[in-house]
Amino acid sequence: MILTGHLSTSDKARSDYAYIPFDVPAGIVRLDIRYSISHPRDAADLRGEGNTIDIGIFDPRGHEFGTGRGFRGWSGSDRDRFFIAEDAATPGYLAGPIQPGEWHVIFGLYHLAEEGCDYQLEIEFTPGPSTLTAADPPTLPGFQPALNDTPGWVRGDLQCHTQHSDAKGSLDTLLATARTRGLDFLAVTDHNTVSHIHEFPAQAGQRPLLIPATEVTTYAGHMNVWGLRAWQEFRCSAADRVAMRAIIDLAHAQGGLCSVNHPKTDGPPWEYGDLPYDCVEAWQAPWPFRNEESLAFWDALLMAGRRVIAVGGSDYHQPLLPMQGRPHLLGQPTTWVYADALSVEGVLAGLRRGHACVSADIDGARLDLRVFDGANWREMGDTARPPTGEISVTCQVWAGAGGMLRLIADGAVIAEAPVDADDWRREWPRIASPVRYLRSELIRRNLLIGGWMMLALGNPVFIRRGRQVGPTLKVEPT
Ligand SMILES: [Zn+2]
Repeated sequence: MILTGHLSTSDKARSDYAYIPFDVPAGIVRLDIRYSISHPRDAADLRGEGNTIDIGIFDPRGHEFGTGRGFRGWSGSDRDRFFIAEDAATPGYLAGPIQPGEWHVIFGLYHLAEEGCDYQLEIEFTPGPSTLTAADPPTLPGFQPALNDTPGWVRGDLQCHTQHSDAKGSLDTLLATARTRGLDFLAVTDHNTVSHIHEFPAQAGQRPLLIPATEVTTYAGHMNVWGLRAWQEFRCSAADRVAMRAIIDLAHAQGGLCSVNHPKTDGPPWEYGDLPYDCVEAWQAPWPFRNEESLAFWDALLMAGRRVIAVGGSDYHQPLLPMQGRPHLLGQPTTWVYADALSVEGVLAGLRRGHACVSADIDGARLDLRVFDGANWREMGDTARPPTGEISVTCQVWAGAGGMLRLIADGAVIAEAPVDADDWRREWPRIASPVRYLRSELIRRNLLIGGWMMLALGNPVFIRRGRQVGPTLKVEPT
């Protein structure tokens, strides 16, 4: 079957997604789809002219926004063909029954030339006797079992990709690299699909612990969702804040944690404004990759009173062979989390609490910050409520000799101290409390390109200052 058509700039003005229906007859066990488009844009030149059209597919169970019942895969613009069979599929797609009825190819209208885009879809059916007993493709596997139930600091990488989206290597290759690097946990965040998660059960019981995740990838921003128990909706047109809000609500309803990725020039940036996401990837890839912009994005949220947790992610797009990943590696940066257990729930709960710090590398410097608010010691991610306007601060740094520790309060540096030992601690007793937050970071002069490099970035202790109203103390709501 060959389907042809045209996608115009007015189609894109209505929605970033177009659906092409086609009927599948009964008795089919494999579907092969190939597509071509006019005036394709050079993949290496994202500012160039021409068409970039992403592709995915939904089966007859439906393609309505939010339910995704019929979702069978997505490959962006990384493949010009894919197949789905009962027992196998192209990475990014879900094997399972080829149900008779109306399927929909989904086109993502990433970039359209002025004159629009002509497309051709070739759809091939392979008939045969079904060998399946279940009617539906398998649902997502449950979380991997805990690797231990010991509370403590664990280190991982919260963003990376496999051949299930736009990287080259398999999950096995990625995990070989992760083991060599010594990661405790790893969130595999392939774009807009969940097919990688179906490979997780074979890895159960081994390090790293795998966090089921996806990178919700739209044409106006990317967002990781960690802790998936089901397919995650991603179809949001550029600047459609209402739809993105709904996507975040859907993620939260399944217990997921949402994190805005790489909010910086060429990140690509985040264009949906402030929404109730939980985290910000304030550090993606090595620090000089414009991460000062992401840090400023996060600081601005903190200044506005938002409780948003900073995380790091390498965004490692692995090659075919382990450890071939220059210019940067898995775990650059690494996110440290204080978890009640090395389990998916434990790591996500630690992140949610903000008991987390980002380090430039697996064995790089890391830090911890505590604030005494007159009643309790508060950890990174906690909220301090100092009734007197005074706090005491302690900061601990490991493996950070040669760096400069900075305390940042409400967006301004309030103290600096050179770190001269690899097990270093400093106290600031009874200092004036900030209004919004206090955080710490460890930096070092960058002798090569000037400026400074981040070595470690800690989460804030959030401050909610009591306000004296007459004789009683009124505490601002958080
Ligand atoms: Zn991204």
